[in-house]
Amino acid sequence: MFLKELQNFIQIFSQLPGIGEKSARRIAFYLLKLPKEDILKFSDTIYELTKIQFCSVCGNFSSGSICEICSNPERNHELLCIVEYPSDIYVIESTKEFKGTYHVLMGALSPIDGIGPENLRINELEQRLKSGTIHECFIATNPTLEGDATADYLVKKFSYLPIVFTRLMHGITTGSTLEFADKYSLTLSIKNRIRIA
Ligand SMILES: [Zn+2]
Repeated sequence: MFLKELQNFIQIFSQLPGIGEKSARRIAFYLLKLPKEDILKFSDTIYELTKIQFCSVCGNFSSGSICEICSNPERNHELLCIVEYPSDIYVIESTKEFKGTYHVLMGALSPIDGIGPENLRINELEQRLKSGTIHECFIATNPTLEGDATADYLVKKFSYLPIVFTRLMHGITTGSTLEFADKYSLTLSIKNRIRIA
């Protein structure tokens, strides 16, 4: 029988992606071999994560109210890339191919899961698109059923605006997510994005 402290640790850590109960137990035993100050470094870095907020413009992770990408004058503010989650920004940035700015929807349309347009950051997107600064909207939602449906929805909804819509098309397997795309394919896919409206 494990101590209550150990049981709590295992229960919490086994909720992390890719970490089952067995791994959580191994982590706990590993940490218990460390000096107390080294264990605290882990809890301190987790605490620091709680200070991260969402950029008030694009929805990216940010240490201030506006993220580094939105506040960077070197970025192309006429080109907007729409993604499902902030983590997708990190994937696209890793290719160094995209120089525009971003808009995070915080998900994709999924009627089965009860996620409609009102649950996504679409009103915020509309405000940005209506401002007149953005000339191209590059929709980089995942090439899944939900991601494609979201892209279709956005193109139809904003067809009244004089904006070119492009989409990630080639190089990424349908049904897969950006997270699992290899960097080379993703770079090509961004470079050869296709106009859809
Ligand atoms: Zn931002």
